[in-house]
Order: sequence, then C-alpha cells, then structure tokens
Amino acid sequence: MKLIIVAAPGAGKGTQAEIISKHFGIPTISTGAILRHNIKEGTELGKIAQNYINDGKLVPDDIMIDIVRKRLTEDDCKNGFILDGFPRTLNQAEALDKSDINIDKVLTIEVEEEKIVERLSGRLECSSCGSSFHKIYRTPKVDGVCDNCGGSLRTRKDDQPDVIRDRLETYHKQTAPLKDFYEKKGILCVAEGKESIEDTTAEVLKALEN
Ligand code: ADP
Ligand code: ZN
Repeated sequence: MKLIIVAAPGAGKGTQAEIISKHFGIPTISTGAILRHNIKEGTELGKIAQNYINDGKLVPDDIMIDIVRKRLTEDDCKNGFILDGFPRTLNQAEALDKSDINIDKVLTIEVEEEKIVERLSGRLECSSCGSSFHKIYRTPKVDGVCDNCGGSLRTRKDDQPDVIRDRLETYHKQTAPLKDFYEKKGILCVAEGKESIEDTTAEVLKALEN
C-alpha cells in the first residue's frame, strides 16, 4: 500500500498516519519530522529549512523532492509507505507523478477551521522522538513527559497563533488544490475528522476500503 495523506495542519494527519502505519505494517515518511530532525541536528538542510518553517512558509520544492526521492528508495519502503506532508504543492505532486513511484490511494481528513486552530494551539511535541500529544485531547500519562520514550514535551515553534494563521493560508493556497488533482485521478479517499482519535481512525479505515 502506497499512501499519501493530504490534510490541513492540525487535522490529525500525523496522529492518524502513526496509527495506520502500525495497522498496515508500513513506515510513515513525515517530511515535517525529517525537517525538524535536521533543524535539531543543525545540518545544512536544517539551517535552510528553519527560516521557512518559522514563517509558516513551505520549504522550496526542489529540496523536498530530493529528500523524498532518496528516502523512498530505502529498504523499509519496499512493501509500501505512508507519505505524511508530501506532496504539499502541485509541483511536488507532478514530480512524484513523473517518478516511477505508483501511489495507490490519497487520504484526506476534513476538519473545520475553528477546530484546527484550537487543536494546534494545544499541541505538544516530544522533543526527543517527535510523537505528538495535546493539552486537552491527547494528554500524556505523566504531565510534560512523552508516553513513548520519556522525553520532554514542548510546544512547536510553528504552533504559535500567528504562525498557525500563515500555515493555514499556505495550506489553502498551495496544498488544498492537490485534492482536485488526485480526485481527477480517481484515487482520493475522503474521511471526516471526528472529535476523538479512535472515531477518526474508524472513518479513515472506512474511507480507505473504497
Ligand atoms: P503540519 O502539517 O502540522 O503543518 P508538518 O510537520 O507536516 O506540519 O510540517 C511542518 C513544516 O515543514 C511546514 O509548515 C513546512 O514549512 C515544512 N514542510 C513539511 N513538508 C513539506 C513539503 N513537502 N514541502 C515544503 N515544506 C514542507
Ligand atoms: Zn518521545
């Protein structure tokens, strides 16, 4: 199963990707996580990406296409993968289309804009493994500590209110058009985002059956 997830920031993309990844036994390739890892390690890529991300802008297409192309040739992607956060522009989608990678399905999770802002502003991220939690909707077992690895939780820099607004605008302008692109190809699966993670997963699995 080669799957893409396209959804607004805060729609629960990363959380659902993590769950379906376990369900199908395929890795999630999250471009956001790759970039944050590089920023943390202070790599050349990290230094370039940092400025774009902190402004709620997208990292240039050619850089992203390169990263994903390399990552997908690794061994763990042989039986399929979930792409979380890529493609994010029509240009990236077209580059993927021209490559020898055949995508089976594209999942989109629909969530109202008000909910999105509420969710993003309460989001917590593990500074060590990148797992995400929420102050209200997905509280960690121990306050401020990651359930998965014991790392400390923090708010992402790009989850500040003014950056959230910029990211949503970027999404509507550059990423939302991908839904039409994949709809026309007949591989778009639409799931309705629900209040709880479990209910959303049920919708997602139902959408992927079609
Ligand atoms: P979210 O979906 O919650 O906004 P991500 O973790 O997917 O967050 O991405 C964080 C940031 O990383 C994006 O706002 C963008 O700046 C950058 N980024 C991630 N993936 C891409 C991509 N495919 N193309 C360009 N920029 C990207
Ligand atoms: Zn962790």
